Amino acid sequence: MSTGRVWLVGGGPGDPELITVKGLRLLERADVIVVDRLAPRALLDELPRVLGGETLVVDVGKQPGHHPVRQSEINALIVEHALAGRDVVRLKGGDPFVLGRGGEEVAACVEAGVPVEVVPGVTSAVSVPAAAGIPLTHRGVARGFTVLSGHDDVSGLLGGVPGGPEHTVVLLMAIAGLAHTAWALVEGGRPADTPVAIVEDGFGPRQRTTLATLGTVAQVAAEAGVRNPAVVVVGDVVTLAPEWVGEVAGGQSMWTPERARATAI
Ligand code: SAH
Repeated sequence: MSTGRVWLVGGGPGDPELITVKGLRLLERADVIVVDRLAPRALLDELPRVLGGETLVVDVGKQPGHHPVRQSEINALIVEHALAGRDVVRLKGGDPFVLGRGGEEVAACVEAGVPVEVVPGVTSAVSVPAAAGIPLTHRGVARGFTVLSGHDDVSGLLGGVPGGPEHTVVLLMAIAGLAHTAWALVEGGRPADTPVAIVEDGFGPRQRTTLATLGTVAQVAAEAGVRNPAVVVVGDVVTLAPEWVGEVAGGQSMWTPERARATAI
C-alpha cells in the first residue's frame, strides 16, 4: 500500500465560489477532507463523493475561545490518514499560510515522510475589505499594507511596521483585543483620528461594516456588538468605503453610497 498525499487547500473567505479551480478539483477526489470552521463548508454538500459516503469529512472547527481539536491532534489526524494510504485535503479558511498554522501542518507531514502540497487561497485579509468596498492600496492614499494578528499584543511588532499615513494595517482575530490593539497603535505613533473599519462576516449573511477611528473604535465596536469573524482595517483607505461620511483621503472618492448601490451587481 502506498502512502497517501496531503494537500493544504485554501478555501477562501467563505463564498464557495472563491476557492481555486485546483482546490475544488482536489476536494472532488479526496478520500478524506479535514475542514475548519471558517472554510467554505457549503461546497462539501455538493460533492458527489461526499454525498455518496466515499469521502470522509472530519470537522475540526474551532470557535474563538473554544478549541475542540488541538493543533497537534489535527496534525496527527492528517498524517495518520495519509499513512493509511488515503489522499487528504486539509480545507482551511482563506489562505493556508496567512495566520492559519499551515506551516505546522506541512512540517508534521514532512516529518512523517508524507508528500504534501500547499494550494493557496484568497485570504480574508484582502478579500473581506474588498467585499466592503475598501481597497488596501489606492493611488495617493496607501502604497502598501501589513497584516497582523490582533490575537497577541501587537506593541512589540509595531517598530517594524511602517507608521506613515500611506500604509494600511489589517488585523485578523482582532475583536477580543481590539481596545488594547487600538491603544497600542496610537502609542506606536498613529494619530487617534486614523480611520478604522471593522468588516464582520465578509461574504456571509451578516456582513456589516462599522466605521470609527483608532480613538473611538473600542467604544463604537462595543456599542455595535461587533462579533467574530471580522477583519479590521486601519488607515486612510477606510475613507474610500461607501459608508464613509466625511473627508475622503486624496480627495478621490470611488463611490458615494448612492453610486455604490447603483453600480452593485
Ligand atoms: N488563513 C485565514 C485566516 C485565519 S485567522 C485567511 O487567510 O483568511 C481567522 C481570522 O480570519 C478571523 O478571526 C477573522 O479575522 C478572519 N476571517 C476569516 N474569514 C473571514 C470572513 N469571512 N469575514 C471576516 N473575517 C474573516
